[in-house]
Amino acid sequence: MTIQNFVNGEYSNPINNNWIDNYCPANGKIYGQIPNSTEEDIALAVEVAEVAFKSWSTTTVEKRSTILLKIAEGIESRLDELAEAESKDNGKPVNLAKSVDIPRAASNFRFFGHAITQFASESHDSTGQNALNYTLRQPIGIVGCISPWNLPLYLFTWKIAPALAAGNCVIAKPSEVTPMTAFLLGEICNKAGLPKGVLNIVHGLGSNTGQAIIAHSKIKAISFTGGTKTGAHIAAIAAPKFKKLSLELGGKNPNIIFADCDYEDMLNTTVKSSFANQGQICLCGSRVFVERAIYDKFKTDFINKVSQLKVGDPGMEETDLGALVSKDHLKKVMSYIETAEQDDGTILYGGQEISVEGLENGYYLMPTVIEVKNNSCKLNQEEIFGPVVTIMPFDTEKEVLSMANDTTYGLSATIWTNNLKRTMRMSKALESGIVWVNTWMMRDLRTPFGGMKNSGVGREGGFEALRFFTDTKNVCIQY
Ligand code: NAD
Repeated sequence: MTIQNFVNGEYSNPINNNWIDNYCPANGKIYGQIPNSTEEDIALAVEVAEVAFKSWSTTTVEKRSTILLKIAEGIESRLDELAEAESKDNGKPVNLAKSVDIPRAASNFRFFGHAITQFASESHDSTGQNALNYTLRQPIGIVGCISPWNLPLYLFTWKIAPALAAGNCVIAKPSEVTPMTAFLLGEICNKAGLPKGVLNIVHGLGSNTGQAIIAHSKIKAISFTGGTKTGAHIAAIAAPKFKKLSLELGGKNPNIIFADCDYEDMLNTTVKSSFANQGQICLCGSRVFVERAIYDKFKTDFINKVSQLKVGDPGMEETDLGALVSKDHLKKVMSYIETAEQDDGTILYGGQEISVEGLENGYYLMPTVIEVKNNSCKLNQEEIFGPVVTIMPFDTEKEVLSMANDTTYGLSATIWTNNLKRTMRMSKALESGIVWVNTWMMRDLRTPFGGMKNSGVGREGGFEALRFFTDTKNVCIQY
């Protein structure tokens, strides 16, 4: 399987003809090649995008909206094929890709196809000065969208859809680890009538292709989702060039469980928030804090539920956890488990790699629960990004709040309680961009999405994304 770049509406090989291998995490085998594109490929993509921008930026909102809605339909019409491609590339259960990743990719286009028709700007009548000010929100020009491997098409389209809706032309790079569904998106866009050069999808390594995108002087804004370290690097390159930046980065999210919660709901959702997508979701609640009154009961019940999760072939209907995304990532996750005891942690469940019959070289790991004694340990401070959660008891609201906030990250937090006053107090005091109360990962695409502290800068979602992808201009008319 050879993946190609999608530039000016056509598939093409990278200019320097350099390729990298693409692995299938389920069996550890190479199953294709992808371009390792360079500055020259990015320069070419920018050239065609500049031409396309002239007409796309002045295309009516209705027309842009219609095309985005057609792309959404195109994604839906290829649901099975896209879900299988996502599962093969990423190792995630095909059922998850079918029920979450691909439907959400379609929703992203549908949502922003509608949102752009409702996007309005302000006007200010400067009474006494005989002047009217109004705000113009104009497309920026050429923007860069760079996404990670954990929710490949879901996050790729979360950036591309608002960028296109707002009238920009896009140079987009999916993760080199999961290029497949981004590759198929090109065909879908052509079929939907997206004009040539409006969306250009270029593949390759972050240090090569990604670097060329962030450094290109004609790419005026970068929307990036990925690791905090990469985000810091991108900021360092982009800031002196005065690019607009949206950075969605890592997390180490607290899941705070009070004794007065709805226990069964909490238990079932906590299994999901700990291990969905093999724990490879930036929003996973990787630090579980449980009020001491129910700690022992929770420990027994949680481990009982976790032990029923089925790890195996991502292609099988009954699989709960598939393979981790790559050999390197498995090694990284294992390194935390191997040093857990030095970190004063006790492995209560899991902690071992699994060999799946017929798929012996795949990257499988048991869901892992580690009891920790102190929030300052490495296991509670560093993002592991795998099927590993820590649990520890707490006694008071004050204590758990202080532990929840005691991390460099601030992406999301979950609280389980039926106490309304506590909910209000804690929602205000938690240092995170999203607070879920008695639920997890319930998303409404109109809401602002993003992190505080080292979890990011800026907000995506709803009109926030359309504001990010437009330049704001004040026009003042005296009459
Ligand atoms: P990563 O930072 O390694 O890579 C993300 C993307 O950046 C990839 O496309 C990669 O090729 C590219 N990249 C790498 N170096 C680059 C460079 N120098 N210049 C430009 N681009 C470069 O992250 P990952 O391992 O793919 O994803 C996992 C991380 O993403 C985790 O930390 C996770 O928390 C985070 N994440 C955050 C969110 C969020 O919404 N906040 C969502 C999903 C994942």
